[in-house]
Amino acid sequence: MISEKMKGYVANSSVIRAMFEEGKQMASIYGADHVYDFSLGNPNVPAPDAVRDAIVDIVTKEDPVLVHGYMSNSGFEDVRTAVAGHLNGLHGTKYTSENIVMIVGAAGGMNVFFKTLLNPGDEVVTFNPFFVEYRAYVGNFDGKLIEVPTDRETFEPDPQALAAAITPKTKAVILNSPNNPTGVVYSEEVIREIARLLCEKQKEFGTSIFIFSDEPYREIVYGDYEVPWIPNFYRNTVVGYSYSKSLSLPGERIGYLVLPSEIDDAEDMISAANVANRILGFVNAPSLQQRVVARCLDEKTDVAFYAENRQMLMDGLREAGYTFVEPQGAFYLWLKSPEPDEKAFVAKCKEKQILIVPGTSFGCAGWTRVAYCVSHETVRNSLPGFREVAASYGLS
Ligand code: PLP
Repeated sequence: MISEKMKGYVANSSVIRAMFEEGKQMASIYGADHVYDFSLGNPNVPAPDAVRDAIVDIVTKEDPVLVHGYMSNSGFEDVRTAVAGHLNGLHGTKYTSENIVMIVGAAGGMNVFFKTLLNPGDEVVTFNPFFVEYRAYVGNFDGKLIEVPTDRETFEPDPQALAAAITPKTKAVILNSPNNPTGVVYSEEVIREIARLLCEKQKEFGTSIFIFSDEPYREIVYGDYEVPWIPNFYRNTVVGYSYSKSLSLPGERIGYLVLPSEIDDAEDMISAANVANRILGFVNAPSLQQRVVARCLDEKTDVAFYAENRQMLMDGLREAGYTFVEPQGAFYLWLKSPEPDEKAFVAKCKEKQILIVPGTSFGCAGWTRVAYCVSHETVRNSLPGFREVAASYGLS
């Protein structure tokens, strides 16, 4: 009965989600303390207290008709004004409420953006490995996702390779920094070069090529890494932001799109995004959560918690002889499989109750993703298992 298109999506349904379910099952057999589930990017750090306080205050003191009612499809005017002002303070921009659309998480925002932009057959380029749902988000509107491989040692993006993939059908380029699954943060130098080359391509083809900057991990960076505000480097940039990771609210489904007035066809793009939010069935982002995040704009997640996990994991894996990309941001460690078939390595880890995700789930064989947004104990207690698996390959 199901549609041909859905048959494909169901067949390729998320390995990550399946592992998450398997993790729960394993926990009922071995006990939760003996399962080391690094499969899902579900933050273990609780939302800041300010979130709970805002919820209580809003539901007890604000007008319930307003708090729980419909509003403009782009979101509450005062919330969008507050978000715009916050961004202006951070990035020296001049956004107003007009430039902000409140969205149902980054996933909802990307669907709104592609609904707004794509005709069937239009191309969207991204760097591989990538958050695999991009394939569905682009496919939902009959677009074609084009993958450009990153450097296979550093996983840094190659701007020239990106430029070579641009065609007259390219409507957008998705950038995701800090990156899921690699933890790489794109430097200002790389962003500048990508911007320069895309400007050249726009001129060469006489087209508009948008960067969609997918930024759920913007604030989660380690050491001195900075995450450039891409609209300040490339005019045709739309930003998708989410509070799923930055305030640990993934189930609440709240974020925003920034559509700067400088983008091509800004007025049409902004009103189309508003309509897309409605007709995709979102109608608007969750009303209570809009009001909550507007009160928590300066709140931050506990990056030190993730930093501690990162360090513990890196020390343990290095000592065991593994090769990996040192995470610069997000909460993922990109771990090289000791054998070419990373699924066999993943299976060996599973024998030690360690759940990690094969790289093929991100379009990149031979590697795996370890999501360390888990408790310190989970990281610490997983290390003997990781060491035993390493020893079975004769590492170190
Ligand atoms: N983009 C990337 C790179 C992600 O890692 C995720 C979630 O893990 C999303 C988008 C979707 O985020 P949200 O929960 O805000 O929809």
